[in-house]
Amino acid sequence: MSTQSSFAVVTDPEILKKISQYKGIWVYAEVDDNTLTSVSLELLAAARYLSNKTKEDVSAVLLGYGVERFAKELIAHGADRVYLVEHPLLSSYTSDAYSEALAQLVLSKKPSIFLFGANRNARDLASRVAVKVETGLAADCIKLEINERGQLEQIRPDFGGKELSVVLTPRTRPQMTTIRPGSYKALPPDPSRQGVVERFQVELKPEKLKIKVLKSVREKLDPKEDLEKAKVIVAGGMGLKNKENFKLLYELASLFEGGAVAGTRSVCEKGWLPHHLQVGQSGKTVSPTLYFAIGLSGAIQHLVGMQNSEVIVAINIDKEAPIFQVCTYGIVGDLFEVVPMLIEEIKRVKAQKSTQKPAQEALAATGGSE
Ligand SMILES: Cc1cc2nc3c(=O)[nH]c(=O)nc-3n(C[C@H](O)[C@H](O)[C@H](O)COP(=O)(O)OP(=O)(O)OC[C@H]3O[C@@H](n4cnc5c(N)ncnc54)[C@H](O)[C@@H]3O)c2cc1C
Repeated sequence: MSTQSSFAVVTDPEILKKISQYKGIWVYAEVDDNTLTSVSLELLAAARYLSNKTKEDVSAVLLGYGVERFAKELIAHGADRVYLVEHPLLSSYTSDAYSEALAQLVLSKKPSIFLFGANRNARDLASRVAVKVETGLAADCIKLEINERGQLEQIRPDFGGKELSVVLTPRTRPQMTTIRPGSYKALPPDPSRQGVVERFQVELKPEKLKIKVLKSVREKLDPKEDLEKAKVIVAGGMGLKNKENFKLLYELASLFEGGAVAGTRSVCEKGWLPHHLQVGQSGKTVSPTLYFAIGLSGAIQHLVGMQNSEVIVAINIDKEAPIFQVCTYGIVGDLFEVVPMLIEEIKRVKAQKSTQKPAQEALAATGGSE
């Protein structure tokens, strides 16, 4: 993408001198429920992609108390350095303590790019840090590029998802962005990667912090409804006609390990599925291995939430439906005929495999070959 606007061209020597002091690509590594969030690892993949272009180091920023054990995992997923910021007042997430600690780190080390996940706490945090260090923030991006001037292009859906906008931060640093979970795929871990862990001491005064966590209560998410982790998603649209017919999609999803059901906004607004199962611009961004798009048109607001799926299978009665522009395999047909046939065929193949397996095992036990 090319950004030719005069806004992108900075000639003021003062500004150029100031921004040239900022180096390195940072990723906010978020720990939640004693694990690194998956978006933190996805951000490292995005940072490595950018670092191939800018030739800058990738650093992960790990905040908390007793979190050093996550440093190795961050290095294995692409970090060259981990800034470790530990303090008893960081043991639970609070906007004021976390933003104060991060602002101190940013002002001291001066990164050029700082990426956050676009989830609840990280969105809150990124905006507060941006204000404290006096820079801009592009929220809810889905893609990042480096332009011909070496600036970060922060690409986000706009105008109700009909257009993609490119946001630049040409005059201040760091260039700060929140990225929707699922926009990038985490790199496979490489335990042999070497990296540096650098501790950073922050000064936090309890009397200056307004928020105190008294108790944390965690809502348990049914793993079958965790769309960001699901390997296979069976998504339905208004073509399903009513809530009852979603049984068909639940049956298809149950045939896959880690299969989940999702829907379009229209479906969730009708109450056919709960809102947390909505995929798209105002719902979840997902990138499963396999995405079934069944009886849904493929409106741009839906596509921005699922187009990074590895394989997309679309079933629609209308051969002109936009979903056919993005799918890997398209079936033009009535879903009420196609889906039951698909279910039967998958069941048949699974049954065949399970009868073949004992025979193969018996053959292997006798030392024979096929
Ligand atoms: C600001 C904004 C944000 C939005 N955010 C989102 C979002 O996050 N997610 C989202 O999904 N949408 C979102 N939308 C809504 C979006 O624009 C579309 O209206 C919505 O995605 C359409 O849902 P649908 O595909 O289920 O319905 P439709 O567009 O009505 O499509 C139904 C499809 O079913 C097919 N069909 C009908 N009968 C059958 C059959 N028997 N067999 C096979 N196919 C059949 C039809 O050919 C049609 O293509 C947003 C809109 C706005 C303005």
